[in-house]
Amino acid sequence: MRWRIRKCPKCKTYTLSETCPRCGTKTFVPHPHRFSPEDRYVEYRLWSKYPQLIEKVTQRKEKVHLL
Ligand SMILES: [Zn+2]
Repeated sequence: MRWRIRKCPKCKTYTLSETCPRCGTKTFVPHPHRFSPEDRYVEYRLWSKYPQLIEKVTQRKEKVHLL
């Protein structure tokens, strides 16, 4: 439970609240787990191998942002 800081997708405000104190937009957690360069690398390698995955992942991220 270290990454409780949340971020507003609209005005980029960092907050601990689930809604942005400035514009009321639902915030999201920018770093749900510790950043790992290796994970990133694997992700990119997967995407270059399976380009159709990009679409799925993008859709998933958009959903997360809208939550
Ligand atoms: Zn905001």
